[in-house]
Amino acid sequence: MTGGPLADRLTAVRAAIADAAREAGRTESEITTIVVTKFHSAELVRELHALGVRDVGENRHQEASAKAASLGDLDLVWHFVGQLQSKKARQVRSYASVVHSLDRESVIDALALADGAAGVVIDGFVQLNLTDDPGRGGVQPDDLLRIAERVKAADGLRLRGVMAVAPIGEEPRRAFERVRAASARLRTLDPEAGSISTGMSGDFREAILEGATHLRIGSAITGNRTTPG
Ligand SMILES: *Cc1c(COP(=O)(O)O)cnc(C)c1O
Repeated sequence: MTGGPLADRLTAVRAAIADAAREAGRTESEITTIVVTKFHSAELVRELHALGVRDVGENRHQEASAKAASLGDLDLVWHFVGQLQSKKARQVRSYASVVHSLDRESVIDALALADGAAGVVIDGFVQLNLTDDPGRGGVQPDDLLRIAERVKAADGLRLRGVMAVAPIGEEPRRAFERVRAASARLRTLDPEAGSISTGMSGDFREAILEGATHLRIGSAITGNRTTPG
């Protein structure tokens, strides 16, 4: 295994995830770590792959599709975590296995397979907006089950759970408690949809303590996004 700062950061984050899982009385194997590689080069993603990373996340379609195309020789699982326009949604299907940001009927319908069309099944998370600002991505808690029903009804999509970003200015653990409650409601609709996508560089410990099954970690592993590498 190669050394260097990237490997060191990855090792440190993996150790911190293991510590938090222990603290929560959970097993690490139920937690998937997605390394968010937005603004970083395809070369960095290749290095991450050499270090054992398989799940990577991107938030912009153009950047994601270019990277996925140039890394087609690697067995990577691409997660789309950004706000999605319905116009682009169909194209995201060509490389992403998981979409974390479902929040509108139009996007869900665009991502779904047309009646009778062949295609792989993509996993979908409904994104919850934990703020009052409709400009942030995600649905308000009252709309969660309605949007989740739409995902369930869509061909070629499998409902996995709920995703959220902790709002700035709220204690992350509090925010993640709300997500956990939303997840419990979602499971009354679909017992299989119990996954929780929460936890970023600054709050993954709190997310793990509140039941996160999917962490989306960028800068703590990749380094600062404004400087190369
Ligand atoms: C960028 C991004 C992340 C990772 O953020 P870091 O703070 O760098 O860990 C996670 N989730 C989403 C939706 C993002 O856009």
